[in-house]
Amino acid sequence: MSNQRSGLSARELFKRGEGVTYDDFTILNTTYSEIDKSDISLEAHLGRNITLRTPIVASPMDTVTSTAMCIAIALEGGIGCIHYNFKNPDGSPNIEEQIKVVEQVKRFENGFIENPVTVSPEQTIREVLESSQRNKVGKSSIDNFPVTENGEPHGKLLGLLRQQDYSRRLHTNVQVKDRMVPLDKLIMAEWPITLNQANAMLWERHLLLLPIADKKGKLKYLVTRSDLDKNDEFPLTTKDENKRLRVLFAVETRPEFAYPRLERGFASGADGCIIDTSQGFSRYEAEMIKYILQKFPDKLIIGGNISTPEAARLLAKEGLHSYRNGQGTGSICTTAGAIGISRAGAAGIYHSAKSSKMATIGDGGLRQVGDIVKTLTIGADAVMLGYMLAGTQESPGEVEIDEGTGMPIKIYRGMGSKEANVGGIRGYSRLPQGVQGNVNYKGSVHEWIPLIRDGLISAFQVMNVSSIEELHKRMYSGEIRFERRTIASLQESGVHDIKK
Ligand code: GDP
Ligand code: 5GP
Repeated sequence: MSNQRSGLSARELFKRGEGVTYDDFTILNTTYSEIDKSDISLEAHLGRNITLRTPIVASPMDTVTSTAMCIAIALEGGIGCIHYNFKNPDGSPNIEEQIKVVEQVKRFENGFIENPVTVSPEQTIREVLESSQRNKVGKSSIDNFPVTENGEPHGKLLGLLRQQDYSRRLHTNVQVKDRMVPLDKLIMAEWPITLNQANAMLWERHLLLLPIADKKGKLKYLVTRSDLDKNDEFPLTTKDENKRLRVLFAVETRPEFAYPRLERGFASGADGCIIDTSQGFSRYEAEMIKYILQKFPDKLIIGGNISTPEAARLLAKEGLHSYRNGQGTGSICTTAGAIGISRAGAAGIYHSAKSSKMATIGDGGLRQVGDIVKTLTIGADAVMLGYMLAGTQESPGEVEIDEGTGMPIKIYRGMGSKEANVGGIRGYSRLPQGVQGNVNYKGSVHEWIPLIRDGLISAFQVMNVSSIEELHKRMYSGEIRFERRTIASLQESGVHDIKK
């Protein structure tokens, strides 16, 4: 009987010159598992003290990441990077719109409802109910309304119309002012107030709702018991020193647009930026890294995309903290065919990750939770998701119905596609390197990310590792074993998983 170990070490698996990717191998169950799920951490360190409790970055793509995605993913322990494809009517870049998203994410305060549906005292209950129907959030109907002058969102607060103040049957023609709790009887709070204070007030005064007004009596926020309960639901939230959600924004390599973006994005409190180019091993990227490091020395810079140690060593030398690893692997990407330069996703990660101290973000070609497990196992510190987050409730764009199947879908497209038309700016105007297609509607990030986490934690438990760091150590020492499968990497270098 031989005591030979099963399968291959990572080193043996990723032989020089072979384009091995996720479907080409599997991880073997060679370790006795004795670890408890509660002892497993999925923390990822991206640099500049930015740690994610969920090692996921939402890709800077215009069908994936804008305000709602950045907020949802940060609440789930990851981080979003706002794309830069906001345009003026003439097609020129609109920096303002991107910065607005940074501001919206930074202003988001879980628990403080910033834009409650407000009504005016003159409206009838029927009108209120109609407007509530229009403003429905997901499945839940809105039944409580701050009453403001002219119904303006942040107008002078005049009262509160609560669910128990009206009957849908008896009061439809009655005016709000005749049923509302008027200002002189209303328990409210004055801004500034912390969430803890607001919470305490809700309990002490037996309230379900607490309007908060500024010194001039104008409505600023609404705090509700149900929303505060929700606040406890997000213990993983990625926050900065001031308890605001963390967020990244994308910049191009072209200084004429990138410089003003950087100035404005960081002034608005963004935590870092991604230099967003498909070819990060270039003078343009190196120059941009130098500029950002010198002007904004305390901010996180993520570079890329690259897929070789040659490129990784250069970017590390420039002082980059973290980089996107993946060229020609995205599900909407046609680079491999268009220019013939790409690399199988997994091989790119393994070979580059061990060549520098930068944090490696595995980017592109990840289709299922097992792919994320494999990426982290072979050296990535975190992953960047496009396809796996496209089609969620929080991705930009409307849900449509697929004519063929009758199923709900959303549009997903490459940033190098004709439809995204970043062309002229990113240099894609003539030969596209991406396509547009549809993906199945996936529901909310708040349901999806916990499932992904669950899969990752299960895998860590099977491998008997408690952290990504430990996983890497055991992979490099040859302890984690792999086995080849037969599916070629060709599949991943073309368009896959979307309906065209
Ligand atoms: P990408 O295709 O996503 O990498 O889009 P980029 O705009 O980054 O690159 C497209 C082309 O423009 C490539 O050929 C780059 O080498 C080139 N390029 C990128 N940045 C600059 C720049 O600042 N100045 C000039 N002249 N060319 C650039
Ligand atoms: P996915 O998760 O869909 O497999 O891959 C998403 C990644 O594909 C993005 O994070 C980005 O790196 C890359 N990508 C996005 N759009 C394009 C494109 O049009 N062309 C290419 N080559 N890559 C793209």
